[in-house]
Amino acid sequence: MSLALDQLDWVIEYWPDLLTARLPMATPRPWRHPQLSEQARAERDTLARAERFERTALSLGESPAPVDVAILQTALDILVRADDLADNLAQVTMCPPLRPPTLGELDARPWLHFAAARLAEAHDGLAEWAAPITAWMVDQTARAMSLVYDGQALDVVCPWCKGVTPETPAGGARTWSVVTLPGDQIAIVCSGVCEPPQREVGTWWRGQPCWPISDWERLAKHVRVSEAHIDGHATMTA
Ligand SMILES: [Zn+2]
Repeated sequence: MSLALDQLDWVIEYWPDLLTARLPMATPRPWRHPQLSEQARAERDTLARAERFERTALSLGESPAPVDVAILQTALDILVRADDLADNLAQVTMCPPLRPPTLGELDARPWLHFAAARLAEAHDGLAEWAAPITAWMVDQTARAMSLVYDGQALDVVCPWCKGVTPETPAGGARTWSVVTLPGDQIAIVCSGVCEPPQREVGTWWRGQPCWPISDWERLAKHVRVSEAHIDGHATMTA
């Protein structure tokens, strides 16, 4: 699979999260309702944004209209580029083109899917040509999501350190939060006394393990396995 195809899949995967401004794994993945940290809450310049988080947390499953102009603009920019990309690939591969998006349309996924399907059939040169465009889409999506998610604490116990911190030596603390690293990279950082095996950790930031957004699916799996284990144990000893 080519890099461009991976990147298109990534943007498609996170598209609903970009638009609904909820945490990527809020539901049905195993992450609990997101909560803004106190600091992040204080840093938010508008009450509206915090309210939107609470409303979103309370109404999981619904899709509130995006209210953040920067995110709306990003979505529209990606939609325009996705339509261009789909159109170019249709011409090159002599495939009937997809209709252009209509005014007010905000879902880029049909054009992203179309582009992905053309790239999957085409020779590698075409994927190489598309790679800078798809990289730009990933970058724009991650930037917009970092605007929304930076500072958000996750209601998850880290499967590796079990929430052990200097303040909570018995464990159980919620040590994961979303941070925006230099270069607008969005990642989850564990602030616990945490040393996952080397193969399980994406990278380190200020001495703490951290996982870039591309690792989050894998991370969610670990949480699921770990929580199933804890639940099973609780049942046995109950
Ligand atoms: Zn940890």
